[in-house]
Amino acid sequence: MEFEEKRKILIDSLRPNGIGNKVLDAMMRVPRHLFVPDELQGTAYIDMPLPIGYNQTISAPHMVAIMCELLEITEGMKILEVGSGSGYNAAVMAELAGEKGQIYTVERIPALALFAKENLKKAGYRNVTVIQDDGSCGLEEHEPYDRICVTSAAPRVPQPLIEQLAAGGIMAIPVGNGEQQLVIVKKDKEGKITQQAWGGVIFVPLIGEYGY
Ligand code: SAM
Repeated sequence: MEFEEKRKILIDSLRPNGIGNKVLDAMMRVPRHLFVPDELQGTAYIDMPLPIGYNQTISAPHMVAIMCELLEITEGMKILEVGSGSGYNAAVMAELAGEKGQIYTVERIPALALFAKENLKKAGYRNVTVIQDDGSCGLEEHEPYDRICVTSAAPRVPQPLIEQLAAGGIMAIPVGNGEQQLVIVKKDKEGKITQQAWGGVIFVPLIGEYGY
């Protein structure tokens, strides 16, 4: 079966999780097999996390879909991702933000920052910038961000990320050690912060100044 056919079966299977057409269509446009190590391309369209080296993973497609759905990404947004990994989630967000959108994604491990950069280039994404750094401190240079997506689990929501979220912005971040909750942080137009737990998730730990 061709990659595209396998991708369609996978994306259709995500619909019952409450994922809307916008996110499903965006995921249909991203060739996930270009974001996994060559020897794992055959399993790229199974709904599970896959190893990408350095004890890290590309997240399962349903998790990417859920986070993108909760983030309510629209065209032209400026988005910060903490934890580039393979670059796949950044690519899906780039599809949702469109040509006028801008994605900044920060990765702690130098070899993975390079892996993400190369994968994004191979797949043709020009509006995604990969930065190698400790993303637990956010990325002051381009703040504020309309959306922040953290793809590793923090002990608590890092204060710099709250500060770098734009008024009206939304952040999705796994929080907790062992038992993790996906927390949705919203900043209203007046700067008031609300946090809501979405449900249990499993992510690798956020390592860094505001991480573990
Ligand atoms: N979003 C990724 C993708 O689409 O492939 C999956 C990310 S993986 C589950 C989590 C990533 O967060 C790992 O690559 C890990 O090295 C990275 N990470 C952990 N702590 C970090 C930090 N403080 N700053 C940036 N990246 C971090």
